[in-house]
Amino acid sequence: METTVYKIVGNDADREMLAEAGRLLREGALVAFPTETVYGLGASALSTDAAAKIYEAKGRPSDNPLIVHVCEPADAEALAYTTPLYYALAERFMPGPLTVIMPKRELIPEAVTGGLDTVAVRCPTNMVARELIRMAGVPVAAPSANLSGSPSPTKGEHVVADLYGRVDMIIDGGDCDIGVESTVISIADGIVTILRPGAVTEQMLSEVCSDVRVDRAVVDLGSVGAKPASPGMKYKHYSPNANVILVDAEGDVFVRYVNTVAGDDDGVFASEAEAEMFRPRALVTGQVGSAAELNHSLYALLREADELGLKNVYIRKPPAWGEHLALFNRLIRAAAGQIVKI
Ligand code: AMP
Ligand code: MG
Repeated sequence: METTVYKIVGNDADREMLAEAGRLLREGALVAFPTETVYGLGASALSTDAAAKIYEAKGRPSDNPLIVHVCEPADAEALAYTTPLYYALAERFMPGPLTVIMPKRELIPEAVTGGLDTVAVRCPTNMVARELIRMAGVPVAAPSANLSGSPSPTKGEHVVADLYGRVDMIIDGGDCDIGVESTVISIADGIVTILRPGAVTEQMLSEVCSDVRVDRAVVDLGSVGAKPASPGMKYKHYSPNANVILVDAEGDVFVRYVNTVAGDDDGVFASEAEAEMFRPRALVTGQVGSAAELNHSLYALLREADELGLKNVYIRKPPAWGEHLALFNRLIRAAAGQIVKI
């Protein structure tokens, strides 16, 4: 397949291109686009054939449902049975990095929802994404724009590396602000349950709704059974080819451990200030302890580890709560649940 790659330039040319990309989506083609979380691989959410193309291009298991992207929160009305709770959440968090699962209406084919009777709705804040969805004039189903199983793309070049030749168009809008996928919550049974943590935290959600639960699978890989609340959680995710080794140790203890066990082909996540203290190659993150900075660079660094051909990558285990929970959740999956305790 021929793939057009377009880099956002910030003038009228963008507008013309977005109109064309919107037309492609409306007609059933695949268009990858930037959002504030990670890049999305879009197709019309009204078409079974278009959804099938997404699964094929990504190599994604067909029981792993897609998130449907809309321009305005009220656009969910046509797709889902909304409730006052949905609008209370939308008022506070939309547009933004929050995906809400609700009972679906007929309009959305089961190919989009992996056969489920619920649909996941998100309203992104990224202006390129919003304008594209507006131009498309249809809701846009979009999972992350990576090959299934590899780290999510946070830069245009990541999408090109994974999907060039497999999609009709790739819109390169530079780096994604947040860098980890949206918070996914279900409100299908009237309570807020977090199925995947993201930049909208449990604490933030509890400011809108007093009863917020966290699905066990968020922090405990062992509890992911054959039929998890969020089908995506059962798949090995976010993984580079390199082994990710999570180490539960801080400060000097972490440095000494890594310098003792790491070999020449290994790497370590380190802040710029620490980089020189490590014997193995440092993959430079933002400030250690800053969830926002680590989220922002996580997937790019995991991809870099593979480009460098690293065998093992050592990473400090982040706390499993608060604003760190999204990172913890991605890292235990990347590490396939293995945590080294010192
Ligand atoms: P991705 O498309 O890679 O961002 O992943 C989307 C995530 O949302 C996956 O973990 C899906 O399993 C989850 N998801 C999407 N729709 C639903 C739904 N209707 N019910 C439960 N989980 C969903
Ligand atoms: Mg994904």
